[in-house]
Amino acid sequence: MESPQFENTFQTLPNFLFESVTPTPLSQPRLIHVTDLKTELGLSALDDDELMQWLNGERMLTGEQRIATRYAGHQFGVWAGQLGDGRAISLGELITPKHGRQEIQTKGSGETPFSRRGDGRAVVRSSVREYLCSEAMHGLGVPTTRVLALLTGSDQVQRETIESSALIARVFPTNLRFGHFELCYHFQKKAELKALIDYAKSLFFPKGDLETMLREIVKRTALLMAHWQNVGFCHGVMNTDNMSLLGVTIDYGPFGFLEDTILDHICNHTDHEGRYAFDQQHNIGAWNLERLLVCFKDFVPVEKLREILDSYPYIFRDEYLAMSRKKLGFTTAEEEDQELFLDLLRVLHDERIDFTYFFRSLSSYQIAKPDSLSALFDIYGNLERLRSWLLRYDQRLLNENSDDLKRSFSMKAVNPKFILRNYIAQEVIESVEKGESERLSAWLQVLYRPFDEHPEFEKYSQPTPKELKHFEVSCSS
Ligand code: AMP
Ligand code: MG
Repeated sequence: MESPQFENTFQTLPNFLFESVTPTPLSQPRLIHVTDLKTELGLSALDDDELMQWLNGERMLTGEQRIATRYAGHQFGVWAGQLGDGRAISLGELITPKHGRQEIQTKGSGETPFSRRGDGRAVVRSSVREYLCSEAMHGLGVPTTRVLALLTGSDQVQRETIESSALIARVFPTNLRFGHFELCYHFQKKAELKALIDYAKSLFFPKGDLETMLREIVKRTALLMAHWQNVGFCHGVMNTDNMSLLGVTIDYGPFGFLEDTILDHICNHTDHEGRYAFDQQHNIGAWNLERLLVCFKDFVPVEKLREILDSYPYIFRDEYLAMSRKKLGFTTAEEEDQELFLDLLRVLHDERIDFTYFFRSLSSYQIAKPDSLSALFDIYGNLERLRSWLLRYDQRLLNENSDDLKRSFSMKAVNPKFILRNYIAQEVIESVEKGESERLSAWLQVLYRPFDEHPEFEKYSQPTPKELKHFEVSCSS
């Protein structure tokens, strides 16, 4: 079998942007899980032990070069200076037949020159959450980094309490973040910035000129924000160092999906002001893009940059509205749709109705038959305001001659039955902490196909039980 082929282009960039590093392997490593990406990336020649030793930094593959990259960023709206991969190590860029260039990065591999006061480690709790959510987002059709494998170690790690250590291998075409550009710009490294821009352009945005590339980045970011709002995903730490240049979800930390609909939900308990609250995310997307576009002011006229940035709210609105129409099962577009959708969200918010459960229920609604939602009313009571909203919905559906059966079919393809509820992640974390992998594997199968029925998991599609709500998720990971 052919050995994996590496092409490490990041190292062609100026030295300022990265450092060579040596991972510190986890003690007594255990391979808990490997995804199908192993085959898809052309790594089948490695058996499980070899894969584990490689990812744990105990074995090198031919052609591989390990680096940590230097970046900077704005954290919670404030310039944070130099940051960098403090616990993530890139093992190189694989050239794969199926997915093109894919960088393999391990997270939790020990200290790097950018660890600052951190220990370079990751805990089982945060690693399992990132592992599950990456694949859940993929299943939902939301652009995201993927994962290849999860390892645990016997090393103990100090966070709020002592926790056990783990490592994930994540996969993406590139680790480039807004923060790499901010680094060069703010430290006035002009030649480095030029090299970085040329690199990003030629490898990841080969079509058109530099303006085309920036337009594409703005568009992808707007699209990502629309996706997040559409599935109720709250990232929690939208600092510019956590923004991918490719517009994919990256750096899962204290994220959460809406369970009860709370539009100003804050999923990161260190975010006291709600800067990254659920309903702020699209605004923060624009703020972050502005930080990125500033870095291009020596290369693109300022008025052009302004114009490109100004396109963002329109792209976001159109994308989000198109997704909302699908969520409601409309096949045509009416002027009133946005208002109808926002009014519904307000009702869901005021009544604290489970976001995912509601839209899945609505997928079985029959025109002018509120009883088709009887299970929902059994849980939440009479919901007068929802009933009046349904009268408007009936009218809208009748206007386009909507067919109950056809609509149900298309709505169930966009309104997931399953999302990664915090308590589900918690159940899996506890099982992995015991060294088990069955729950993790079983949940991945559900999350890869969240629109399917999975009757044996029925209870997890219901609103989160009261006693399992209100997990506080901190930034510590
Ligand atoms: P995050 O909030 O996870 O995106 O991390 C922000 C910055 O802190 C990044 O530069 C990380 O590499 C770094 N960092 C987070 N946790 C650790 C850790 N345990 N050890 C070293 N660096 C860390
Ligand atoms: Mg980060």
